[in-house]
Amino acid sequence: MAIGSHRPTRIIVNLDAIKQNIQQEREQLKDNQEIYAVVKANGYGHGAEAVSKAALEAGATGLCVAILDEAIALRKSGIEAPILVLGVTDVRDITLAVNYNIILTVPSLKWLETSLPVLETSQVTLRFHLKLDTGMGRIGVREREELKTLLEVIKASSYLSLEGVFTHFATADSENEDYFNHQVTRFKQLLECFEALPQHVHCANSATAIWHDDLPTTIIRYGIGMYGLNPSGTSLSLPHPLLPALKLETELVHVKQVQEKTSISYGATYSANPGDWIGTLPIGYADGWVRAMQGYIVMIDNQPCEIIGRVCMDQCMVKLPYYLPEGTAVSLINSEVSERISPTAIAEYLGTINYEVLCLLSERIPRVYQ
Ligand SMILES: *Cc1c(COP(=O)(O)O)cnc(C)c1O
Repeated sequence: MAIGSHRPTRIIVNLDAIKQNIQQEREQLKDNQEIYAVVKANGYGHGAEAVSKAALEAGATGLCVAILDEAIALRKSGIEAPILVLGVTDVRDITLAVNYNIILTVPSLKWLETSLPVLETSQVTLRFHLKLDTGMGRIGVREREELKTLLEVIKASSYLSLEGVFTHFATADSENEDYFNHQVTRFKQLLECFEALPQHVHCANSATAIWHDDLPTTIIRYGIGMYGLNPSGTSLSLPHPLLPALKLETELVHVKQVQEKTSISYGATYSANPGDWIGTLPIGYADGWVRAMQGYIVMIDNQPCEIIGRVCMDQCMVKLPYYLPEGTAVSLINSEVSERISPTAIAEYLGTINYEVLCLLSERIPRVYQ
């Protein structure tokens, strides 16, 4: 996709905020613990390469991504830190992963058995972490029997290097801890099947790191917290403030005063009031500024301005409080300007979570780093 460097819409990423969020998390670590920065989905929309480099500078010691291509892109950018792919990788791509020194996740006994002939034929050793499904219901080994057989297979093969075992919690951000505790128990039970534990045993995403103590975890897989957002949205409060790292800005590219009952945008759903000043913004749903943003606000000249009429693919219109010249700055996401335009507040308006608001911001918007 062509990046829109010739329009004023841009994402500003404050890498210092990312570093400070990492440093703050480092202060909470126990002796045997380290932070892997989770930079999947282009670093939650912030730009994976820049975020990874900032996080590693701030003391993260590894990276997590979702898919192999994300890991390879980071290697090609010169990053040498350990990279763990959290999702399922096609067994046919194992040698590619090995060539880039990337650590894969083993999701099942079946996957591991399929991988063996590939490893033997190409005479390469797979570095991997084993995933345990303790109640997330996504990927991983669920039963003791499968785990025991799997551990036998690992022991018998010289092509398998088990470096870690991990699980993922479904409800680490919820007030009721019953299901979380059930998963912890299940994790500990499954860990008992190991004769010796691998170097890394981990279970902490941001919510777990922030709200739960005393867990068997050598790695914090730090995602949303590093980007400065509350994993729970607004339901649980943060023990330490985090610094949001991302802002979304644009400028008014067209300003007009319209007559009463003038229609605005597709479907002619908005009918102007007398004297309305209408501003046009060069951002739309193709940028991840979704149609459901209609009726919400952006901030211009410190004033909340309603998004009126339908959001188009590449543009949308706002009602201005008074005449403002073309070129006036518009804040679409900026927690400092107003909490009302924080990713979390926008997510609440859209009926989603802050993660999704960030991930939807498309590649067309340039990322600028400060
Ligand atoms: C995405 C992901 C994380 C990071 O989660 P946050 O809530 O953003 O901290 C950690 N572990 C796994 C397995 C993930 O998929």
